[in-house]
Amino acid sequence: MKYSDQIKDEVRSRNDIVDVIGQYVHLTKKGSNYMGLCPFHNEKSGSFSVSPQRQMYHCFGCGVGGDVYKFLMEYENLTFPEALKQLAERAGVELPEEDNSKEARAARDRKQVLLEINKEAAKYYYANLKKPAGAKGLAYFRKRQLSDETIRLFGLGFSNISPDDLVQYLRSKGYKDAQIIEAGLASHDEKRGTHDKFWNRVMFPIMDSSGKVIGFGGRVMGDGEPKYMNSPETPVFDKSRNLFGLNYAKSARAGYMILCEGYMDVIAMHQAGFNMAVASLGTAFTTGQAMILKRYTDTVILSYDSDGPGTKAALRAIEILSEVGIKGKVLDLRPHKDPDEFIKNEGKEAFEQRVKNAENTFYFEVRILESKHDFSDPVSKTEFYKEVAAKLCEFHEPIERQVYVDAIAARYNIPADDLKSLVAEMAAKGTGARVIQKPKTGITEKRAPDDGTRKNQRLLLTWLSDEPQIYPKVAQWINEDDFCDDLYRKVAKEIFSDIQAGNFVPVKILDKFTDEEEQRQVAEIINTDLVEVVTPEERRQAFRDIIYGVKHSGYERKKKELKPDDPEYLTKTIQGKKELERLAHADISPD
Ligand SMILES: [Zn+2]
Repeated sequence: MKYSDQIKDEVRSRNDIVDVIGQYVHLTKKGSNYMGLCPFHNEKSGSFSVSPQRQMYHCFGCGVGGDVYKFLMEYENLTFPEALKQLAERAGVELPEEDNSKEARAARDRKQVLLEINKEAAKYYYANLKKPAGAKGLAYFRKRQLSDETIRLFGLGFSNISPDDLVQYLRSKGYKDAQIIEAGLASHDEKRGTHDKFWNRVMFPIMDSSGKVIGFGGRVMGDGEPKYMNSPETPVFDKSRNLFGLNYAKSARAGYMILCEGYMDVIAMHQAGFNMAVASLGTAFTTGQAMILKRYTDTVILSYDSDGPGTKAALRAIEILSEVGIKGKVLDLRPHKDPDEFIKNEGKEAFEQRVKNAENTFYFEVRILESKHDFSDPVSKTEFYKEVAAKLCEFHEPIERQVYVDAIAARYNIPADDLKSLVAEMAAKGTGARVIQKPKTGITEKRAPDDGTRKNQRLLLTWLSDEPQIYPKVAQWINEDDFCDDLYRKVAKEIFSDIQAGNFVPVKILDKFTDEEEQRQVAEIINTDLVEVVTPEERRQAFRDIIYGVKHSGYERKKKELKPDDPEYLTKTIQGKKELERLAHADISPD
């Protein structure tokens, strides 16, 4: 439902952002802000800042930012109404009864509608399984030995052999074609009109960590192509930031998670009692997914297919896990191909044993190297030793390195001293050192290249947000026209008029923008890193520099916009220049 601005304000003002974010991120006070490691990108030193004055957060590394609602929506994968409910409950604010009228439903949050459609579709597919048309879907799951309980738990289903079965059903529930298409469940073309995306497939609903259906995976019956198909990305379905099975695995508390390749692997493992199993969503494992796993565990056991592509994917996943600081281990399932096949043939005790013996990723990587070399060929064998030595150089801790040198020497019958000196030699030359890669964030870099111009403007607006009382001094020299682009001008205008009206609350500036990307940029503009000033003279100097900087770039911009053949070109430029000179010599201070 659509809540009034008043309720939105009240709930927000009764949930201090530092307290709320502090439940998820370890924050330390630094100056007037709190800093921590950003939960949205992978980093080793904290660039995630939370401001108690402004009641906003902002990451200087990846550029995310917003208010307490935005944080919960991003972190917990919530829609706005859900975030509002959660915060209202936290602060003991009673919300008005939900309005379920047709008008209210029409106005409901767009994401909320997409989630409702996904939920309806999941119910529909599930019901199909029990109907004659869905018999072959059910037969498929039976053949995979899934119990009714498992089918229900994962909400498995079937999409009929029909061009628009689901579309018709969803229309009957009052959804429009455009919404069904946006949810990724239908497509439209001239010939077929609006038609189902999935048909003749067994269906796997994909749920987010809180159990909401956000998309589907479908496996075709028979030999159709593609064999597996997933919902496209939609406003509620971000493949790089969700994992299949996480809604159950997150409460398994086994001390580790098992990362598999496919949905059927996860389902078979949960049925066998291994409810800490998750899978990436039809794409390679991403840093974003690793960041999410890190919230729940520090150890991830890889259970990938033991074929060529599976091994390659495992090596890549190991790299990603180590980048975000998760300890990786690898399950050896040989002679079976995948966990499903293993459990069916060897049983769950045997599987449990393999989990216990899961191999350290270093040995796994060495084993892969070994398989690429022919030990009967001295050249190839020497090459293998060198590559292993290079890998050993990656251990910077001398004791740790020694432990692994000894273990490898014993395993491959190499004199330990020889291996040790080879490693030492390579480390000294730097040949073995790993090239430090720039962390790959799960979030694309959204920040525009910056220059001093915008920085000064952000500094001024951030300072005003913290100390609105300096406004009269600012207004003597600066007006909104001095800001360089539309967004900055709009933010400046809103802040200035709210201060003049005496009702300025920094976080409310965000509400004046509806576009999510704009809100993020606004959060960035008013959450710039202010330099700590100590003495009154430093404070005056900082103020002068910023005011002059903003005025100067404003003058340059206006000059560029004037046409030289404008009869007033000369007077206007001279005027601007004079004002700048006056400013340069004026005695100005924020206090
Ligand atoms: Zn970040």
